[in-house]
Amino acid sequence: LVEVRNLHKRFGALEVLRGVDLTVESGEVVVFVGPSGCGKSTLLRCLCGLEVPSGGEVVVGGVPVRDEPRALQALHRRVGMVFQRFHLFPHLSALQNVTLAPRKVLGMADAEAEALGRRTLALVHMEARADAFPAQLSGGQQQRVAIARALAMKPEVMLFDEPTSALDPELVGEVLEVMRELAREGMTMCVVTHEMGFAADVAHRVLFMDAGKVVEEGSPQEVLREPKHPRTREFLSRLL
Ligand code: ATP
Ligand code: MG
Repeated sequence: LVEVRNLHKRFGALEVLRGVDLTVESGEVVVFVGPSGCGKSTLLRCLCGLEVPSGGEVVVGGVPVRDEPRALQALHRRVGMVFQRFHLFPHLSALQNVTLAPRKVLGMADAEAEALGRRTLALVHMEARADAFPAQLSGGQQQRVAIARALAMKPEVMLFDEPTSALDPELVGEVLEVMRELAREGMTMCVVTHEMGFAADVAHRVLFMDAGKVVEEGSPQEVLREPKHPRTREFLSRLL
C-alpha cells in the first residue's frame, strides 16, 4: 500500500533522510523507533505530503506522490495523520472538528457529515462528548478526537507521530487502546512511538532508524528482544 524507494530529504546542508526504502502492506502495522533527530517525523511527513522529498519516490496506493496541489489534496484524503500535539481547532466542538474536512473537502451535506462524525467519534469512545470544545477535554480525549478527525476521511493508511508523548502518563492507555482497536480492525498504520509495550503487542514489524536510514527491521521479537545491530542495542538499553 505504501512504497518508499531511496527516499532522501535534506534541509539546506543537513541530510535528514539518507536513502530510506520501505514497503507497508495493506493491514500492516509498522512501528518506527530511533533516537531523536534520526528522521522519523520527517519520514512520516514525506508519506503524507507535508514535506517534499529531495530525492527518491513515495507511492501510496499505486499513486506516486507528486508535489502538485491537486495531487497533494488527493493524498491528504487518503493518508490520515495524528501528531504529538493534537492541533484541534479550539473554537470548534469535537463533532465540528471531525466533520470539518468531510464538509469542506468532500462537500458532504451537514446531516450526512454529522451522522458520520458521530459514528466516527463512537469509534474512539468520544460520542458522549461530541459537543465539548477542546479546552473542556483532557489530553487523551483531545487526542482521540484528533484520531477521529483523521478517520472521518476514511484514509487508506493512518500515520501516528508520537501520539502519546504529550500526554500525562495516566492518559496514555486510552489512546493506545483506540490504536489497538484500529489495528485489530485491519487499519494500515505507521506509528512512531517510544511505547515499547504497544510495539511488542501490536506491530507486525518494527523498524529501527538511525541518522536518516533504516538500520534494522524485523518482527518486534527480533528487533526489540534480539537486536543485531549495535546501534539498536544501545538505543534500547537507554530506554530501559
Ligand atoms: P524526535 O524523536 O526528536 O521527534 P525525529 O526522528 O522525528 O526526532 P525529525 O523531526 O525527522 O527527527 O528531524 C530530523 C532532523 O531534521 C533534525 O535534526 C531536525 O532538526 C531537522 N529538521 C526537521 N525539520 C526541519 C525543517 N523544517 N527545517 C530544518 N531542519 C529540520
Ligand atoms: Mg519526531
